Amino acid sequence: MNASARTRLVLGNWKMHGNLAANATLLAGLRAGASGVSGRIGVCVPFPYLAQAASKLKGTPVAWGAQDVSVHEQGAYTGEVAAGMLKDFGCTWTLCGHSERRTLHGETDVQVADKARAALAAGLVPVVCIGESLEERDAGKALDVIRRQLEPVLALGRAAVAGMVLAYEPVWAIGTGRTATPEQAQDVHAAIRQALAGVGAPDVLVLYGGSVKAANAASLFAMPDIDGALVGGASLVAEEFLRIAAV
Ligand code: PEP
Repeated sequence: MNASARTRLVLGNWKMHGNLAANATLLAGLRAGASGVSGRIGVCVPFPYLAQAASKLKGTPVAWGAQDVSVHEQGAYTGEVAAGMLKDFGCTWTLCGHSERRTLHGETDVQVADKARAALAAGLVPVVCIGESLEERDAGKALDVIRRQLEPVLALGRAAVAGMVLAYEPVWAIGTGRTATPEQAQDVHAAIRQALAGVGAPDVLVLYGGSVKAANAASLFAMPDIDGALVGGASLVAEEFLRIAAV
């Protein structure tokens, strides 16, 4: 499949932002402007606001999802949220292994793959996040890190991988205002695509994330292996987020 046959996806990651009143304004803005979007669009919201997102976005082109998921189906796992619970609230996606989960909560590559497997088993699309730190990039190890992070995910097999979305998010570009150049991002996306092709799933969407804004989205989306974006800060303002999705 060539790049044009892979449908653009722009996903927002609200992180731990929002409250009922602020979300109502943001969701109303998304409802009002979503018809101008050409590809697919969605928001990953904090768990307590899934019901609000579901009620405000149902029937619009904007889908919703979560930012994390448990590896377990159910049981004595206080504070965890199971994939089936997310499904109950109409989630399409869940992020797995966002760099903030990996660095602040010690999630390992294997746990991230287990989360992706749990999400798939419940009928969700895992959005598996990978990316190197600044130190790793400066040491020339970016691609080694990406391959290491991908290994247990790819080991789930072709059928599982084909049901995922990947997001390349260089840690040094997240929330820093410092975006990877389109060429830097493309180099890594091409390597990811090659790894996906190696397990027979070359058409999996690979999003770029890291300080994406309306002003830089078009040049990133022009790259052959960049299929859309995972957007943090800029997804908190409806007009800006919709401008990215309308590129
Ligand atoms: C993110 O949270 O996944 C992200 C890419 O954040 P930002 O767009 O703010 O860099």
